[in-house]
Amino acid sequence: MGPQQDTAAGRELPQIEKAPRRSFNLEDYEALRASFSWADARRLMEGLPGGGLNIAHEAVIRHARGARAESTALLWLGRQGERREISYRELAGEVARFANMLRDLGVAPGERVFVMLGRVPELYIAVLGSLLSRVVVSPLFSAFGPEPVATRVSIGQGRLLVTSPGLYARKIAPVRDELPTLQHVLVTGEVAAPGTAALTPLLASASDEFETPETDPEDMALLHFTSGTTGTPKGAIHVHEAVVAHHITGHYALDLRPGDIFWCTADPGWVTGTSYGIIAPLTNGATNLVLESEFDVALWYETLASERVNVWYTAPTAIRRLMKAGPEAARGHDLSHLRFMASVGEPLNPEAVTWGQQVLGQPFHDNWWQTETGGIMIANFAALPVKPGSMGRPMPGIEAAIARRGADGGVDIVQDAGVEGELVIRSGWPSMMRGYLGEEARYQKCFAGGWYLTGDLARCDEDGCFWFVGRADDVIKTSGHLIGPFEVESVLIEHPAVAEAAVIGVPDATAGELVKAFVALKTGHQPDETLRRSILGHARQRLGPAVAPKLVDFCADLPKTRSGKIMRRLLKARELGLPEGDLSTLEGDAR
Ligand code: ATP
Ligand code: MG
Repeated sequence: MGPQQDTAAGRELPQIEKAPRRSFNLEDYEALRASFSWADARRLMEGLPGGGLNIAHEAVIRHARGARAESTALLWLGRQGERREISYRELAGEVARFANMLRDLGVAPGERVFVMLGRVPELYIAVLGSLLSRVVVSPLFSAFGPEPVATRVSIGQGRLLVTSPGLYARKIAPVRDELPTLQHVLVTGEVAAPGTAALTPLLASASDEFETPETDPEDMALLHFTSGTTGTPKGAIHVHEAVVAHHITGHYALDLRPGDIFWCTADPGWVTGTSYGIIAPLTNGATNLVLESEFDVALWYETLASERVNVWYTAPTAIRRLMKAGPEAARGHDLSHLRFMASVGEPLNPEAVTWGQQVLGQPFHDNWWQTETGGIMIANFAALPVKPGSMGRPMPGIEAAIARRGADGGVDIVQDAGVEGELVIRSGWPSMMRGYLGEEARYQKCFAGGWYLTGDLARCDEDGCFWFVGRADDVIKTSGHLIGPFEVESVLIEHPAVAEAAVIGVPDATAGELVKAFVALKTGHQPDETLRRSILGHARQRLGPAVAPKLVDFCADLPKTRSGKIMRRLLKARELGLPEGDLSTLEGDAR
C-alpha cells in the first residue's frame, strides 16, 4: 500500500465548479494547449530592434509610451498609512534615472547590483532600472543578517548595493571588509553614512531619459537565491527572455488584465515577489499594489476590500493564518471586486481551498513552480473546476510528467495515472534558469534526457491534474510504505484544534522511520494529553495506522523560511541532534 492508494485520492474533497462568468483569459484549456507556441507568446512583447528583448522595457517603457502611460503602475501603501500612486509614465522616468545613475557610476552591463530594502518604491525602481540598463539585479530580503548578505553578495560579486541607512549600519557595515568587489553602497534618502552615497540626490541629478539599450534575450538579468528550505540556497540565473514566460503566465494562470488591481503578497527577496510582484503585473498593464507592512489579518482584509483588489496572489502560510483568525475576521469586508485568488510556495491543503470558497466566496487556485523555473509551470486556471489539493495542470507550452530515475542516471517517464514519481518538465521554456551561479556541476545534475528534474515528488491523475506528494528529501519511509508529509499534514489540519502541522520521519529500529508530527494549535486550545490523543485518533481514522503519525509534539510555531515554507529539515536535525545546516533564510533569525 503506497500513499497513492490510501490517501489524497481516497479522501478527495468534491471538485469545486465555477459559476459562469463573462470571460477568462484562458477559456478553453485543451484548445489553447494544442495551439500555443512560445514564438507566438514572444510576439506579444514589443521587443527591441534586431530581435532584442529587455524585461524593464516590456514592463514599463512600452506602456509609458502607449495608452497606459497615465494609468497607475505602482500603488504603494506605506507602513505609516502613506499612499503613493506612480503612473507608468512616472515610473519610466524614475527607472530611467536609476539606469542613468548606474551608467554615470560606471556600473557596466552584466555586472551585479544587489537591492536590500523593505517593500518601498526605491526597491522597484532599482530592480527595474538595473534591468533596463542590462545590469544584473539580485533582490535580497531586508531581514537577512550580515552573514547571509555577505555570502550572496560574494557569490554574485556584487558591484553596487542599494539599501537603507539603518540596514546598512546593522547588516552591511559589519561585513563590508569581506566584500572587495562591492564598490558602491547607495542608501535611500538624502543623507549618506561614511562609506555610502545618498540615493535621492544621485537620482535627482540623473536624466529621466534613457534609450533602452540593445539587449540580447540571453543576457543575464536576474540572480535569485532559492529559499534554502532543503539546504544551502542556490543562486539561479535568469535571462531577459524570461519576460515572455512572466507575461504569459500572468495572463493565463493569474488571469491578469490591463487595469486590474493586482496584489502579490510575496516579498521581492524571493522569486515570486519579483516574477509576479514586479514584472508580470506591469507587462500585463495592471496596477501593482505593494503593501509595505508585514502580515496582519485586519490590515490584509482591509487592503483587499478598500483597494478593490481584483487578483490576489498569496501563499499557504498566509492563508492558514487567515483561517486561524476565523471567518469572523473576514466579515464586513466587501470582497466583491476580487475576481481570482491564487497561492504558491508550498502545498495548499484542500481545507484551505474550500475555506476560500466558503468564507471568501471563491476557492484559492494553487499553482506550482520554483526559483529555477522562473515562472508558473502548473496551475489551477480560472475557467476550470478546482480539485482541492491538486496543483492543477501544466501551463500551455509546458510539458510536465512523472518520472522514475533509472540506474543509468537517465529518467523513465511513468505513463500510468496515479503513480508517484519525480515531477519533471521538458526543458526549453523561456524562464528556465540558465545556471546556478558558480555551481555548474549542481546545475548539470538537474537535467536528464531533455527533462528538467524538479526534486519534487508528485503524481498525475487521469484528467492530467498534478498532485504534490512531497520533496524528494522529505519523503518518509516507514514499514515499507513511502509517505509524503503533505497528505499527513493536510489531515492533521482538519482537526479543529490544529492550525499548522509539519511531519518528518524519525529513525526507528523496526519500522525504518516513524512518522512524527509537530503541530501548532489554534488560539484557545491547550496542548495536553487529551488533545494529543484526539489528534492521533483523528489521523489514524483518516489515514489508517500505517500512514498516521505515531508521535505528536506541540509547538508554538513551526520553523519556516522567510518565504513562509516549513523547514522540515530543521525539525529533523533538531529531533536527531544533528547540525542545523544553513539557517540564513530562517524566519525570525536575524543573523
Ligand atoms: P531550496 O531549493 O533552497 O531548498 P526551495 O525549493 O523552497 O528552497 P523555492 O524555489 O522558493 O525554494 O521553492 C520551490 C519549491 O517550493 C518547490 O520545489 C516545491 O517543493 C515547493 N512548492 C512551490 N509551490 C508549490 C505548490 N503549489 N505545491 C507544493 N509545493 C510547492
Ligand atoms: Mg528547491
